[in-house]
Amino acid sequence: MTWNASCKDFDSSKDVHMSKRATSMCPTLVLSSVKKLYVWTLLTSVVLFVSALGYNNVRSQSTDRLAAPRDSSRVFVSDNPNTVPETPNNDQYTLQLQKEVEDLKHRIEQLELEKNTYPEVTFRSYKDRKRILVTGGAGFVGSHLVDKLMLQGHEVTVVDNFFTGRKRNIEHWLGHENFELLNHDVVNPLFIEVDQIYHLASPASPPHYMYNPIKTIKTNTVGTINMLGLAKRVRARLLMASTSEVYGDPEIHPQTEEYWGHVNPIGPRACYDEGKRVAETMCYAYRKQDGLEVRVARIFNTFGPRMHMADGRVVSNFILQALQNEPITIYGKGEQTRSFQYVSDLVDGLEALMNSNYSEPVNIGNPEEYTILDFARVIRQLVGGESEIVHKPAMQDDPQRRKPDITRAKKYINWTPKVPMMVGINKTIEYFSHELQRKKHSERNIWHPDFELQSNTDTSLDLGSNIFNQKSADVEDNLES
Ligand code: NAD
Ligand code: UDP
Ligand code: UDP
Repeated sequence: MTWNASCKDFDSSKDVHMSKRATSMCPTLVLSSVKKLYVWTLLTSVVLFVSALGYNNVRSQSTDRLAAPRDSSRVFVSDNPNTVPETPNNDQYTLQLQKEVEDLKHRIEQLELEKNTYPEVTFRSYKDRKRILVTGGAGFVGSHLVDKLMLQGHEVTVVDNFFTGRKRNIEHWLGHENFELLNHDVVNPLFIEVDQIYHLASPASPPHYMYNPIKTIKTNTVGTINMLGLAKRVRARLLMASTSEVYGDPEIHPQTEEYWGHVNPIGPRACYDEGKRVAETMCYAYRKQDGLEVRVARIFNTFGPRMHMADGRVVSNFILQALQNEPITIYGKGEQTRSFQYVSDLVDGLEALMNSNYSEPVNIGNPEEYTILDFARVIRQLVGGESEIVHKPAMQDDPQRRKPDITRAKKYINWTPKVPMMVGINKTIEYFSHELQRKKHSERNIWHPDFELQSNTDTSLDLGSNIFNQKSADVEDNLES
């Protein structure tokens, strides 16, 4: 399903569908259930038949030793009409049936094993286990956060309207006893019982949030007030996923949390920027008025596996273009800068902030800053393709420099990013290249938590730290033209 197709009707999802329904839609589980039902039915029939046969054998031995078995399909029939049909040996027949029963039992055991393929989660007692809501949990960042919380042994409820999120991102948890999935739009009220709320529901990439600006505003305003109302009712702590976009096109560099920002309130990015700014305002109003525990994470550009293929963000665009030998598109001269963090660092930061005692806004980002032009060259080199770098018109109100000051994060939540950008980019290239090769629906998402754990121990991906010093001729040519 393409993004455009999925977003046409996103505003219509008014009902809450419980996870069991979602679970029943998971093809693997449906198939497994149908197979299991089929095998059980067959097994029951065979067992009944064997019992009936045993009873008939006892009778037939005393009355008619040559009587044929009841199942005529198993009687030998010769093509030659003159041949006298052979009477099958009942003992042999019973043995054959017993063997079939054993085979079926073995098959059921295998199906039981197949069912329990969830990643192993930590056991927590009732006292230590939290009930955690992740809105936007089927999206890119949300799904990685869900993995972490599930592996820690918490009970996780995902609320998502699948505007940009996908079941594929969380398919490995469907049916797990600690996991719930609600197909729900946060613009509508939600009444559930939880201890913590990570409020991530919002489109995040510029093409996605500009696609339906009014919906973006509703999601960030009405949606946030609903989640704050829920948090107030159940006395839960709420972490709101804010953004570096609250600083707009910043006049100070790097950006500290004290900076109030420079946002065009009527520009094309305003639906998102102002939506997030008012969402922050509402968090602190609920804190002041109702004593709500709030946490505000100002997230800087994040990338990694499970980013949407049609996301339109610079990381996914450049990697996909390079992998397909298409031109790499730079908006404007490419002198604008961004600081990119790998998704696992962000997830660690969100969790650290949620469980800290600090309630002022905190920047979560990697301060390594690159120009977009340099970034294009890195991607091309790592992918190894022959894409040319081309320039397109600059985006309106595109922030020119962006880099987080993370002094607060270090001091109050003891967090710093750990994953070097090159390592993260290689993992992301691997993910996208697999997605591009995908031919069948049944091919599962490779970014399974078990796979991630293995790849985190693989240090061979740490490549190319001096790529930034290499100038490539065609980049220079493009800039001159
Ligand atoms: P994403 O688009 O992959 O995920 C957003 C999720 O929210 C999707 O699953 C989407 O279906 C869901 N959603 C959108 N509107 C909804 C609604 N009305 N009701 C219920 N669900 C809804 O984006 P992401 O990159 O994972 O971003 C997650 C959060 O982090 C967002 O709030 C975003 O603003 C914030 N953020 C992300 C970045 C980044 O670089 N990824 C940077 C700054 C802030
Ligand atoms: N709300 C919700 N779930 C709850 C509690 C409240 O979705 O468990 C919504 C509620 O519908 C309202 C919003 O949150 O629109 C704000 O709730 P609050 O109690 O702060 O305000 P009020 O209901 O008094 O307007
Ligand atoms: N960008 C680009 N080419 C693309 C996509 C983005 O040059 O194909 C630029 C964009 O103009 C911006 C930067 O890359 O300056 C980051 O864009 P992105 O959409 O990833 O996130 P933003 O930080 O703007 O929200």
